[in-house]
Amino acid sequence: SEKAPVDLHACVEEAVQLLSLQLDKTRVTFSNLVPDDLYALGDNQRLIQVFINLLSNARDASPDGGHIEVEGYVRAGLACIAVTDNGPGISAAHRERILEPFFTTKEPGEGTGLGLAMVYSIVEEHGGQLELVSPAHPDTGRGARFIVQLPLEAGEN
Ligand code: ADP
Ligand code: MG
Repeated sequence: SEKAPVDLHACVEEAVQLLSLQLDKTRVTFSNLVPDDLYALGDNQRLIQVFINLLSNARDASPDGGHIEVEGYVRAGLACIAVTDNGPGISAAHRERILEPFFTTKEPGEGTGLGLAMVYSIVEEHGGQLELVSPAHPDTGRGARFIVQLPLEAGEN
């Protein structure tokens, strides 16, 4: 698909807006801490889809009143977006399987098991990488952090 400069702060904001009714349901809050000058080279709609999937998984994993943080930074010449929740995290046994299509731990009707498979294929399509850190909070042993790494768009100004 066509690759163009993608405003990652705006992508995350759009995903957050699309999920905001459901986010409110369990009083889960979020912070979009992605700087507004962070651009990737990619497909805007596909990248929004990535963040919708990661944010909805983070919301599903969050306790009532939980908080989700989305950070953005440059590392090793890549644009990185990290989504961190305060849920239970992901066990080693599950970590090996979460990218498999149809792998889900959710009740029938609540999960298709296709979200992360889609995330992975979109990230691959961009020549990027998907990383998981769990537990995200070593002090409590809780939380999952998914880090999407994408080709950086250097910008023209
Ligand atoms: P679905 O959300 O439909 O179950 P996904 O492919 O999006 O499918 O996720 C697969 C599984 O990975 C989930 O069912 C869950 O077990 C696990 N998972 C994904 N994200 C998280 C997260 N942030 N915290 C805990 N578990 C997660
Ligand atoms: Mg999902």
